[in-house]
Amino acid sequence: MSRLEDIVSLCKRRGFIFQGSEVYGGMAGTWDYGPLGVELKRKIMNAWWKYFVEDRDDMYGVDAAILMNPRTWVASGHTATFADPLVECKECHKRFRADHLGDFSEKVTREELTSANAKCPNCGKVNWDEVKQFNMLFRTHVGSVSDDSSLAYLRGETAQGIFTNFKNVVDTIYPDMPFGLAQQGKAFRNEISPRDFVFRSREFEQMEIEYFVKPNTWEENFDKLLVDVHDFLENVMMLPVDSIHELDVPEEDRAHYSKRTIDMEFDYPIGREELMGIAYRTDFDLSNIQRESGKNMEYRDKKTNETFVPHVIEPSFGVERLVMAVLTTAYCEDEVDGSSRVVLKLPDNLAPYRFCVSPLLKNKLELMEKAREVYAILRKKYGNVTWDDSGNIGKRYRKQDEIGTPKCVVVDFETLEDDTVTVRDRDTTKQDRVKIIEL
Ligand SMILES: [Zn+2]
Repeated sequence: MSRLEDIVSLCKRRGFIFQGSEVYGGMAGTWDYGPLGVELKRKIMNAWWKYFVEDRDDMYGVDAAILMNPRTWVASGHTATFADPLVECKECHKRFRADHLGDFSEKVTREELTSANAKCPNCGKVNWDEVKQFNMLFRTHVGSVSDDSSLAYLRGETAQGIFTNFKNVVDTIYPDMPFGLAQQGKAFRNEISPRDFVFRSREFEQMEIEYFVKPNTWEENFDKLLVDVHDFLENVMMLPVDSIHELDVPEEDRAHYSKRTIDMEFDYPIGREELMGIAYRTDFDLSNIQRESGKNMEYRDKKTNETFVPHVIEPSFGVERLVMAVLTTAYCEDEVDGSSRVVLKLPDNLAPYRFCVSPLLKNKLELMEKAREVYAILRKKYGNVTWDDSGNIGKRYRKQDEIGTPKCVVVDFETLEDDTVTVRDRDTTKQDRVKIIEL
Protein backbone atom coordinates (compact mmCIF):
# COMPACT_ATOMS: atom_id res chain seq x y z
CA MET A 1 0.00 0.00 0.00
CA SER A 2 1.35 3.40 -1.00
CA ARG A 3 1.84 6.04 1.67
CA LEU A 4 0.11 9.41 1.49
CA GLU A 5 3.42 11.32 1.88
CA ASP A 6 4.83 9.53 -1.17
CA ILE A 7 1.85 10.49 -3.30
CA VAL A 8 1.87 14.10 -2.07
CA SER A 9 5.59 14.33 -2.75
CA LEU A 10 5.26 12.88 -6.26
CA CYS A 11 2.35 15.22 -7.02
CA LYS A 12 4.43 18.26 -6.07
CA ARG A 13 7.67 17.05 -7.66
CA ARG A 14 6.10 16.29 -11.01
CA GLY A 15 3.58 19.12 -11.27
CA PHE A 16 0.32 17.35 -10.50
CA ILE A 17 -0.94 19.16 -7.41
CA PHE A 18 0.46 22.10 -5.43
CA GLN A 19 -0.64 23.69 -2.19
CA GLY A 20 -3.04 26.57 -2.96
CA SER A 21 -1.40 30.04 -3.00
CA GLU A 22 1.89 28.41 -2.04
CA VAL A 23 3.95 31.48 -2.96
CA TYR A 24 2.21 33.41 -0.15
CA GLY A 25 2.64 30.67 2.39
CA GLY A 26 -0.46 28.74 1.33
CA MET A 27 -4.20 28.88 1.96
CA ALA A 28 -5.46 26.04 4.13
CA GLY A 29 -7.87 23.64 2.49
CA THR A 30 -7.13 24.71 -1.08
CA TRP A 31 -5.08 22.96 -3.78
CA ASP A 32 -3.91 23.98 -7.22
CA TYR A 33 -3.53 21.61 -10.14
CA GLY A 34 -0.39 21.87 -12.28
CA PRO A 35 0.07 20.85 -15.93
CA LEU A 36 0.02 17.10 -15.23
CA GLY A 37 -2.67 17.23 -12.56
CA VAL A 38 -5.12 19.17 -14.68
CA GLU A 39 -4.73 16.58 -17.46
CA LEU A 40 -5.44 13.73 -15.05
CA LYS A 41 -8.36 15.51 -13.39
CA ARG A 42 -9.96 16.50 -16.71
CA LYS A 43 -9.60 12.98 -18.07
CA ILE A 44 -11.41 11.65 -15.01
CA MET A 45 -14.15 14.27 -15.37
CA ASN A 46 -14.52 13.72 -19.12
CA ALA A 47 -14.67 9.95 -18.67
CA TRP A 48 -17.46 10.42 -16.11
CA TRP A 49 -19.37 12.77 -18.43
CA LYS A 50 -19.05 10.36 -21.33
CA TYR A 51 -20.12 7.36 -19.24
CA PHE A 52 -23.07 8.93 -17.42
CA VAL A 53 -24.28 11.55 -19.93
CA GLU A 54 -23.07 11.12 -23.51
CA ASP A 55 -23.40 7.36 -23.71
CA ARG A 56 -26.94 7.31 -22.28
CA ASP A 57 -30.35 8.32 -23.63
CA ASP A 58 -31.79 9.23 -20.23
CA MET A 59 -29.24 11.79 -18.97
CA TYR A 60 -28.83 15.50 -19.74
CA GLY A 61 -26.31 18.06 -18.55
CA VAL A 62 -26.71 21.43 -16.86
CA ASP A 63 -24.15 23.99 -15.74
CA ALA A 64 -25.61 26.34 -13.13
CA ALA A 65 -24.11 29.41 -11.47
CA ILE A 66 -22.08 29.00 -8.27
CA LEU A 67 -23.82 32.02 -6.73
CA MET A 68 -27.49 31.19 -6.23
CA ASN A 69 -30.44 33.01 -4.71
CA PRO A 70 -29.91 32.55 -0.93
CA ARG A 71 -33.46 31.14 -0.58
CA THR A 72 -32.03 28.03 -2.28
CA TRP A 73 -30.07 27.21 0.86
CA VAL A 74 -32.94 27.95 3.20
CA ALA A 75 -35.26 25.63 1.24
CA SER A 76 -32.63 22.88 1.02
CA GLY A 77 -32.02 22.94 4.77
CA HIS A 78 -28.38 23.94 4.41
CA THR A 79 -28.62 27.17 6.42
CA ALA A 80 -30.11 25.17 9.30
CA THR A 81 -28.37 21.80 9.20
CA PHE A 82 -25.26 21.90 7.00
CA ALA A 83 -23.02 21.87 10.04
CA ASP A 84 -20.13 20.07 11.66
CA PRO A 85 -19.56 19.70 15.42
CA LEU A 86 -17.05 22.28 16.61
CA VAL A 87 -15.34 22.27 19.99
CA GLU A 88 -12.89 24.68 21.60
CA CYS A 89 -10.11 23.74 24.00
CA LYS A 90 -10.51 25.93 27.09
CA GLU A 91 -6.78 25.72 27.80
CA CYS A 92 -5.26 26.87 24.51
CA HIS A 93 -8.42 28.16 22.74
CA LYS A 94 -7.75 26.18 19.56
CA ARG A 95 -10.84 24.87 17.80
CA PHE A 96 -11.31 21.38 16.43
CA ARG A 97 -13.85 19.23 14.69
CA ALA A 98 -15.18 17.34 17.71
CA ASP A 99 -15.88 14.01 15.98
CA HIS A 100 -12.29 13.91 14.65
CA LEU A 101 -10.79 13.84 18.15
CA GLY A 102 -11.27 10.09 18.33
CA ASP A 103 -13.75 7.45 17.28
CA PHE A 104 -16.85 9.64 17.73
CA SER A 105 -20.08 10.24 15.86
CA GLU A 106 -21.05 13.69 14.57
CA LYS A 107 -23.40 14.01 17.55
CA VAL A 108 -20.55 13.77 20.06
CA THR A 109 -20.96 15.79 23.27
CA ARG A 110 -18.54 17.47 25.66
CA GLU A 111 -19.25 14.75 28.24
CA GLU A 112 -18.31 12.00 25.78
CA LEU A 113 -15.05 13.75 24.86
CA THR A 114 -14.19 14.16 28.54
CA SER A 115 -15.04 10.60 29.61
CA ALA A 116 -13.11 9.18 26.63
CA ASN A 117 -10.15 11.31 27.75
CA ALA A 118 -9.86 12.87 24.27
CA LYS A 119 -6.80 15.10 24.46
CA CYS A 120 -6.38 18.44 22.73
CA PRO A 121 -4.15 17.78 19.69
CA ASN A 122 -2.47 21.14 20.33
CA CYS A 123 -1.77 21.28 24.09
CA GLY A 124 -2.55 17.74 25.22
CA LYS A 125 -5.00 18.78 27.96
CA VAL A 126 -8.58 17.56 28.40
CA ASN A 127 -10.67 20.65 29.08
CA TRP A 128 -13.35 21.05 26.44
CA ASP A 129 -16.02 23.68 26.01
CA GLU A 130 -19.53 22.67 24.86
CA VAL A 131 -19.73 21.21 21.34
CA LYS A 132 -21.37 23.68 18.95
CA GLN A 133 -22.77 23.24 15.46
CA PHE A 134 -20.64 25.14 12.95
CA ASN A 135 -22.35 25.95 9.63
CA MET A 136 -20.11 25.12 6.67
CA LEU A 137 -21.63 27.41 4.03
CA PHE A 138 -19.24 30.14 2.86
CA ARG A 139 -20.85 33.55 3.11
CA THR A 140 -20.29 36.45 0.78
CA HIS A 141 -22.00 39.68 -0.18
CA VAL A 142 -23.30 40.43 -3.64
CA GLY A 143 -23.23 43.99 -4.97
CA SER A 144 -21.92 47.18 -3.41
CA VAL A 145 -23.72 47.00 -0.05
CA SER A 146 -22.51 44.56 2.61
CA ASP A 147 -25.49 43.96 4.84
CA ASP A 148 -28.03 41.20 5.43
CA SER A 149 -29.93 42.11 2.28
CA SER A 150 -26.91 41.28 0.10
CA LEU A 151 -25.90 38.05 1.88
CA ALA A 152 -25.25 35.11 -0.45
CA TYR A 153 -23.45 31.79 -0.23
CA LEU A 154 -20.94 29.93 -2.34
CA ARG A 155 -22.82 26.76 -3.22
CA GLY A 156 -22.37 23.94 -0.72
CA GLU A 157 -23.23 21.32 -3.33
CA THR A 158 -23.84 21.28 -7.07
CA ALA A 159 -27.11 19.37 -6.56
CA GLN A 160 -29.17 22.49 -5.84
CA GLY A 161 -28.22 23.99 -9.21
CA ILE A 162 -29.84 20.91 -10.74
CA PHE A 163 -33.02 20.94 -8.64
CA THR A 164 -33.62 24.64 -9.26
CA ASN A 165 -33.45 23.97 -13.02
CA PHE A 166 -35.73 20.92 -12.97
CA LYS A 167 -38.76 22.86 -14.19
CA ASN A 168 -36.75 24.72 -16.87
CA VAL A 169 -35.56 21.42 -18.31
CA VAL A 170 -38.97 19.73 -18.18
CA ASP A 171 -40.64 22.74 -19.82
CA THR A 172 -38.05 22.97 -22.58
CA ILE A 173 -37.08 19.41 -23.53
CA TYR A 174 -39.82 17.41 -21.71
CA PRO A 175 -37.77 14.24 -21.18
CA ASP A 176 -39.39 10.86 -20.55
CA MET A 177 -39.38 9.64 -16.96
CA PRO A 178 -37.08 8.37 -15.52
CA PHE A 179 -34.33 10.81 -16.51
CA GLY A 180 -31.26 12.29 -14.93
CA LEU A 181 -29.67 15.74 -14.87
CA ALA A 182 -25.92 15.84 -14.41
CA GLN A 183 -23.61 18.63 -13.37
CA GLN A 184 -19.89 19.01 -12.74
CA GLY A 185 -18.47 21.98 -10.91
CA LYS A 186 -17.01 23.62 -7.86
CA ALA A 187 -18.57 23.41 -4.43
CA PHE A 188 -17.41 24.99 -1.17
CA ARG A 189 -17.44 23.86 2.44
CA ASN A 190 -15.88 25.78 5.28
CA GLU A 191 -14.29 22.69 6.81
CA ILE A 192 -13.15 23.21 10.40
CA SER A 193 -10.03 21.13 9.82
CA PRO A 194 -9.22 20.40 6.18
CA ARG A 195 -6.80 17.50 6.04
CA ASP A 196 -5.47 14.47 4.22
CA PHE A 197 -4.25 16.21 1.07
CA VAL A 198 -7.08 16.86 -1.40
CA PHE A 199 -9.39 14.49 0.45
CA ARG A 200 -11.01 17.09 2.69
CA SER A 201 -10.63 20.58 1.28
CA ARG A 202 -12.65 23.80 1.45
CA GLU A 203 -12.99 24.22 -2.30
CA PHE A 204 -13.51 21.13 -4.39
CA GLU A 205 -15.18 19.76 -7.46
CA GLN A 206 -18.29 17.61 -7.61
CA MET A 207 -19.90 15.45 -10.27
CA GLU A 208 -23.53 14.88 -9.38
CA ILE A 209 -26.57 13.33 -10.98
CA GLU A 210 -30.15 13.86 -9.85
CA TYR A 211 -32.10 10.99 -11.33
CA PHE A 212 -35.85 11.71 -11.34
CA VAL A 213 -38.19 8.73 -10.98
CA LYS A 214 -41.80 7.83 -10.32
CA PRO A 215 -42.10 7.50 -6.53
CA ASN A 216 -42.95 3.78 -6.52
CA THR A 217 -39.97 2.91 -8.76
CA TRP A 218 -37.20 4.35 -6.61
CA GLU A 219 -35.83 1.02 -5.43
CA GLU A 220 -35.29 -0.55 -8.87
CA ASN A 221 -33.72 2.69 -10.14
CA PHE A 222 -31.49 2.91 -7.09
CA ASP A 223 -30.25 -0.63 -7.76
CA LYS A 224 -29.63 0.05 -11.46
CA LEU A 225 -27.60 3.18 -10.73
CA LEU A 226 -25.61 1.29 -8.11
CA VAL A 227 -24.63 -1.26 -10.78
CA ASP A 228 -23.58 1.58 -13.12
CA VAL A 229 -21.50 3.19 -10.38
CA HIS A 230 -19.65 -0.08 -9.78
CA ASP A 231 -19.08 -0.51 -13.51
CA PHE A 232 -17.71 3.03 -13.81
CA LEU A 233 -15.36 2.68 -10.84
CA GLU A 234 -14.10 -0.77 -11.80
CA ASN A 235 -14.04 -0.66 -15.61
CA VAL A 236 -13.52 3.00 -16.48
CA MET A 237 -11.52 4.27 -13.50
CA MET A 238 -9.96 0.79 -13.28
CA LEU A 239 -9.99 0.77 -9.47
CA PRO A 240 -9.36 -2.67 -7.94
CA VAL A 241 -12.62 -4.40 -6.94
CA ASP A 242 -11.25 -5.53 -3.58
CA SER A 243 -10.45 -1.92 -2.59
CA ILE A 244 -14.06 -0.80 -3.08
CA HIS A 245 -16.57 -1.40 -0.28
CA GLU A 246 -20.27 -0.68 -0.03
CA LEU A 247 -21.49 0.79 3.23
CA ASP A 248 -25.24 0.86 3.75
CA VAL A 249 -25.40 4.02 5.86
CA PRO A 250 -27.59 3.55 8.96
CA GLU A 251 -30.42 6.02 9.48
CA GLU A 252 -28.76 8.01 12.27
CA ASP A 253 -25.72 8.76 10.05
CA ARG A 254 -27.62 9.67 6.90
CA ALA A 255 -28.00 13.22 5.62
CA HIS A 256 -31.26 14.87 6.71
CA TYR A 257 -32.88 14.38 3.28
CA SER A 258 -32.07 10.72 2.67
CA LYS A 259 -34.14 7.55 3.13
CA ARG A 260 -31.39 5.28 1.89
CA THR A 261 -27.70 5.93 1.27
CA ILE A 262 -24.90 3.67 0.14
CA ASP A 263 -21.42 5.05 0.55
CA MET A 264 -18.83 3.61 -1.75
CA GLU A 265 -15.71 3.46 0.36
CA PHE A 266 -12.17 3.00 -0.85
CA ASP A 267 -8.96 1.79 0.78
CA TYR A 268 -6.91 4.99 0.74
CA PRO A 269 -3.47 5.35 2.32
CA ILE A 270 -5.32 7.20 5.13
CA GLY A 271 -7.62 4.21 5.67
CA ARG A 272 -11.03 3.18 4.41
CA GLU A 273 -12.89 6.39 3.57
CA GLU A 274 -15.82 7.57 1.46
CA LEU A 275 -15.15 7.77 -2.27
CA MET A 276 -18.69 8.61 -3.43
CA GLY A 277 -22.26 8.17 -2.27
CA ILE A 278 -25.58 7.23 -3.79
CA ALA A 279 -28.59 8.55 -1.94
CA TYR A 280 -32.36 8.30 -2.25
CA ARG A 281 -33.46 11.89 -1.56
CA THR A 282 -37.21 11.21 -1.92
CA ASP A 283 -39.11 14.34 -3.12
CA PHE A 284 -37.43 16.35 -0.37
CA ASP A 285 -35.77 18.93 -2.63
CA LEU A 286 -38.46 19.45 -5.27
CA SER A 287 -41.17 19.70 -2.60
CA ASN A 288 -39.11 22.24 -0.67
CA ILE A 289 -38.59 24.30 -3.83
CA GLN A 290 -42.31 24.07 -4.59
CA ARG A 291 -43.14 25.37 -1.12
CA GLU A 292 -40.44 28.07 -0.98
CA SER A 293 -40.94 29.38 -4.54
CA GLY A 294 -44.68 28.81 -4.96
CA LYS A 295 -43.95 27.22 -8.38
CA ASN A 296 -45.38 23.87 -9.35
CA MET A 297 -42.70 21.14 -9.53
CA GLU A 298 -45.00 18.37 -10.73
CA TYR A 299 -44.24 16.22 -13.75
CA ARG A 300 -47.04 15.10 -16.07
CA ASP A 301 -46.72 11.55 -17.35
CA LYS A 302 -46.98 11.62 -21.16
CA LYS A 303 -49.05 8.43 -21.43
CA THR A 304 -51.29 8.47 -18.37
CA ASN A 305 -51.49 12.25 -17.78
CA GLU A 306 -50.93 11.47 -14.13
CA THR A 307 -49.08 14.27 -12.28
CA PHE A 308 -46.65 13.84 -9.40
CA VAL A 309 -43.57 15.38 -7.79
CA PRO A 310 -40.74 13.06 -8.87
CA HIS A 311 -38.52 11.30 -6.36
CA VAL A 312 -34.77 11.44 -6.75
CA ILE A 313 -31.78 9.09 -6.68
CA GLU A 314 -28.49 10.95 -6.39
CA PRO A 315 -25.10 9.46 -7.28
CA SER A 316 -22.63 12.06 -6.01
CA PHE A 317 -18.90 11.97 -6.76
CA GLY A 318 -16.11 14.15 -5.42
CA VAL A 319 -13.55 14.62 -8.18
CA GLU A 320 -10.58 14.96 -5.81
CA ARG A 321 -11.49 11.76 -3.98
CA LEU A 322 -11.55 9.98 -7.32
CA VAL A 323 -8.20 11.55 -8.25
CA MET A 324 -6.80 10.27 -4.94
CA ALA A 325 -8.21 6.78 -5.48
CA VAL A 326 -6.73 6.65 -9.00
CA LEU A 327 -3.33 7.85 -7.72
CA THR A 328 -3.41 5.40 -4.81
CA THR A 329 -4.08 2.54 -7.22
CA ALA A 330 -1.44 3.67 -9.72
CA TYR A 331 1.42 4.52 -7.34
CA CYS A 332 4.04 1.83 -7.26
CA GLU A 333 7.69 1.44 -6.30
CA ASP A 334 9.64 -1.39 -7.87
CA GLU A 335 13.12 -2.31 -8.98
CA VAL A 336 14.49 -2.16 -12.50
CA ASP A 337 18.02 -3.42 -13.27
CA GLY A 338 18.96 -3.22 -9.61
CA SER A 339 17.78 0.34 -9.05
CA SER A 340 14.49 1.36 -7.49
CA ARG A 341 11.98 3.46 -9.37
CA VAL A 342 8.65 5.18 -8.74
CA VAL A 343 6.02 4.46 -11.35
CA LEU A 344 2.43 5.58 -11.81
CA LYS A 345 0.62 2.69 -13.45
CA LEU A 346 -2.23 4.83 -14.73
CA PRO A 347 -4.64 3.27 -17.21
CA ASP A 348 -4.20 4.48 -20.82
CA ASN A 349 -7.46 6.45 -20.71
CA LEU A 350 -6.39 8.51 -17.67
CA ALA A 351 -2.64 9.00 -18.14
CA PRO A 352 -1.81 12.69 -18.77
CA TYR A 353 0.26 11.63 -21.78
CA ARG A 354 -0.23 8.48 -23.79
CA PHE A 355 3.17 8.62 -25.50
CA CYS A 356 6.47 10.36 -24.99
CA VAL A 357 8.54 10.83 -28.14
CA SER A 358 12.34 11.31 -28.02
CA PRO A 359 15.29 11.31 -30.38
CA LEU A 360 18.03 8.93 -29.24
CA LEU A 361 20.55 11.77 -29.51
CA LYS A 362 19.76 15.45 -29.38
CA ASN A 363 22.79 16.63 -31.35
CA LYS A 364 22.00 14.66 -34.52
CA LEU A 365 19.90 16.82 -36.80
CA GLU A 366 18.47 13.93 -38.83
CA LEU A 367 17.30 12.15 -35.64
CA MET A 368 15.71 15.34 -34.33
CA GLU A 369 13.88 15.91 -37.60
CA LYS A 370 12.62 12.35 -37.79
CA ALA A 371 11.54 12.40 -34.13
CA ARG A 372 9.62 15.64 -34.68
CA GLU A 373 7.87 13.97 -37.59
CA VAL A 374 6.85 10.97 -35.45
CA TYR A 375 5.74 13.32 -32.68
CA ALA A 376 3.51 15.23 -35.12
CA ILE A 377 1.93 11.99 -36.38
CA LEU A 378 1.13 10.68 -32.88
CA ARG A 379 -0.05 14.05 -31.66
CA LYS A 380 -2.49 14.29 -34.53
CA LYS A 381 -3.76 10.78 -33.82
CA TYR A 382 -3.95 10.84 -29.99
CA GLY A 383 -3.66 14.48 -28.88
CA ASN A 384 -2.04 13.85 -25.52
CA VAL A 385 1.55 13.18 -26.57
CA THR A 386 4.61 14.76 -25.00
CA TRP A 387 8.12 15.46 -26.24
CA ASP A 388 11.31 14.97 -24.26
CA ASP A 389 14.86 15.46 -25.48
CA SER A 390 16.43 16.33 -22.12
CA GLY A 391 19.10 14.30 -20.30
CA ASN A 392 19.83 10.74 -21.31
CA ILE A 393 17.31 8.06 -22.28
CA GLY A 394 17.41 6.42 -18.83
CA LYS A 395 16.50 9.69 -17.10
CA ARG A 396 13.70 10.32 -19.58
CA TYR A 397 12.25 6.89 -18.85
CA ARG A 398 12.32 7.52 -15.09
CA LYS A 399 10.55 10.83 -15.51
CA GLN A 400 7.87 9.37 -17.79
CA ASP A 401 7.41 6.45 -15.36
CA GLU A 402 6.72 8.92 -12.56
CA ILE A 403 4.09 10.82 -14.53
CA GLY A 404 2.48 7.62 -15.76
CA THR A 405 3.19 7.76 -19.51
CA PRO A 406 2.38 4.23 -20.78
CA LYS A 407 4.76 4.21 -23.79
CA CYS A 408 8.04 5.91 -24.64
CA VAL A 409 8.89 6.06 -28.33
CA VAL A 410 12.55 6.52 -29.28
CA VAL A 411 13.73 7.47 -32.76
CA ASP A 412 17.23 6.15 -33.56
CA PHE A 413 19.44 5.53 -36.61
CA GLU A 414 17.49 2.40 -37.53
CA THR A 415 14.35 4.56 -37.81
CA LEU A 416 15.98 6.48 -40.65
CA GLU A 417 16.47 3.19 -42.51
CA ASP A 418 13.17 1.34 -42.02
CA ASP A 419 10.61 3.61 -40.29
CA THR A 420 10.56 1.53 -37.11
CA VAL A 421 10.96 2.92 -33.59
CA THR A 422 11.77 1.54 -30.15
CA VAL A 423 8.67 1.42 -27.97
CA ARG A 424 9.35 0.97 -24.28
CA ASP A 425 6.53 -0.20 -22.02
CA ARG A 426 6.17 1.63 -18.68
CA ASP A 427 5.02 -1.34 -16.61
CA THR A 428 7.23 -4.15 -17.97
CA THR A 429 10.10 -1.84 -19.14
CA LYS A 430 10.26 -4.18 -22.16
CA GLN A 431 11.35 -2.65 -25.46
CA ASP A 432 9.90 -3.58 -28.84
CA ARG A 433 10.66 -2.60 -32.38
CA VAL A 434 7.46 -1.27 -33.97
CA LYS A 435 6.63 0.28 -37.35
CA ILE A 436 5.61 3.94 -37.01
CA ILE A 437 2.33 3.37 -38.85
CA GLU A 438 1.39 0.65 -36.34
CA LEU A 439 1.58 2.94 -33.32
ZN1 LIG B 1 -5.59 22.80 23.87
